Amino acid sequence: MGSESLRPTPIKGVLDIETYVPGKDKVPAGVKLHKLSSNETPLGPSPKAREAFASIAENLEFYPDGQATALKTAIAEVNGLNPKNVLCGNGSDELLGLLCSVYLSPGDEAIYTEHGFLVYRIQILARGATPVVAEERDARADVDAILAKVSERTKIVFLANPNNPTGTYLPFDEVRRLHAGLPGNVLLVLDAAYAEYVKRNDYEAGIELVGSAGNVVMTRTFSKVHGLASLRIGWMYAPEAVVAALDRVRGPFNLNAAAIAAGAAAIRDRAHVEAAVEHNERWRDWLTSELTALGLTVTPSVGNFILIHFPERQGAGAAEADGFLTTRGFVLRRVAGYGFPNALRMTVGSEEANRGVVAALSEFLKEEE
Ligand SMILES: *Cc1c(COP(=O)(O)O)cnc(C)c1O
Repeated sequence: MGSESLRPTPIKGVLDIETYVPGKDKVPAGVKLHKLSSNETPLGPSPKAREAFASIAENLEFYPDGQATALKTAIAEVNGLNPKNVLCGNGSDELLGLLCSVYLSPGDEAIYTEHGFLVYRIQILARGATPVVAEERDARADVDAILAKVSERTKIVFLANPNNPTGTYLPFDEVRRLHAGLPGNVLLVLDAAYAEYVKRNDYEAGIELVGSAGNVVMTRTFSKVHGLASLRIGWMYAPEAVVAALDRVRGPFNLNAAAIAAGAAAIRDRAHVEAAVEHNERWRDWLTSELTALGLTVTPSVGNFILIHFPERQGAGAAEADGFLTTRGFVLRRVAGYGFPNALRMTVGSEEANRGVVAALSEFLKEEE
C-alpha cells in the first residue's frame, strides 16, 4: 500500500538535531556507582517530599489538578511572587520547549551562547527556527557578543545563569545591560536552574527584571537543589501575557499528581535547601583546591558542579580519565558536545564520592606521568 516516493517528512530542522545524551550511570558489575554526571544532589530530596509522594499512591485513578495549584501556591509563597505569574512545567525542559513553540516560527532566529545548555538548540531546531550561537569570553557569556548577533529575525535570547557546564555566571548589571540592548519584541529567557547555589552579592536570578519588563522570563527547576529530578518539575516566572500564551499550548495535565505534591513539600522545606547549599559550597571549594593542587585546571564555578580541564599530554586526557574513573565507580560527564573535548564535568557529590574522585585522579595522573 502507498507509494514508495511518498512518506511523512519531519519539518526542516528536526533531522539536524543531535539527540540529547543524558549523563551516564553505568559502572562495571560489583563496583559501587557514584553518579556525578547529571548535577543531582547527593542529599536527595526532603523527607517531607518523599512522604507527600507516597501519599499519592492512594489516588492514582484521578486526574491531577491541571493548574497545579498546590505547587504554584507554594512556589509563589516561598519566593514572594504573584501566583498569576507562575507556570509549572514537566521539568524546565518542557517550559523551554513551550517558549519556542509559542514565540518561534520557521525562519526565526534564537540566540544562545557558545557553551550554553544544549536543550536550547534542540528546541529551536524543533520549530524549524535557526539557532544562532554567540561566542563566550573565558567560558563566560559575553553581552556584547550576544547583542552583536541580534537581527530582525531574532525572537528569543537564552541565557543560562549560572551556565551549565561551565559554572560561570553573569553579574546582574551585565544581565540588565543585555536586556537594555534588546528590542522589546525579543524574549529574554533567564534559565536559573542553579540559582539557589549562588552566593554572590552581584548575582540575581532575575525576579526583579521579570517584574519590571514585559519581555523577560525566568525558569527554575526542582531537579537540582530540591533533589526531584525523577519527577520532572520546573517553573517559570513570567509576565501574565507569556503565562497565558503558554497555558494555551501546554498539555492540560502537564504535571502529575506526585510531582505537584512532592514539589510543594520540597520547596517549603527551607532547612533542607539550606543544608544542600551548605554541603555544596563546602565540597565545591574543597574539590576545586584539591584538583588544582593535582595540576588540573578547574573553571571557577558558582553551581553544584565543576568543569575540570585535563592536560594535553598523550594518555592523560579527559577520555582516558573518564575511563579510569568509571572502572572505579565514579561517573562524570563528557562535555565535548559543549565545546570542551578535553574536560569533564563533575557534580559535587557526597563526601565519599568527592574524596574518591580526588584519590582516583591523583592515581590516574601519576600513572600517566
Ligand atoms: C539541569 C538544568 C535544567 C533543568 O532541567 P529540568 O528539565 O528542570 O530537569 C535547566 N537548565 C539547565 C541549564 C540545567 O543544567
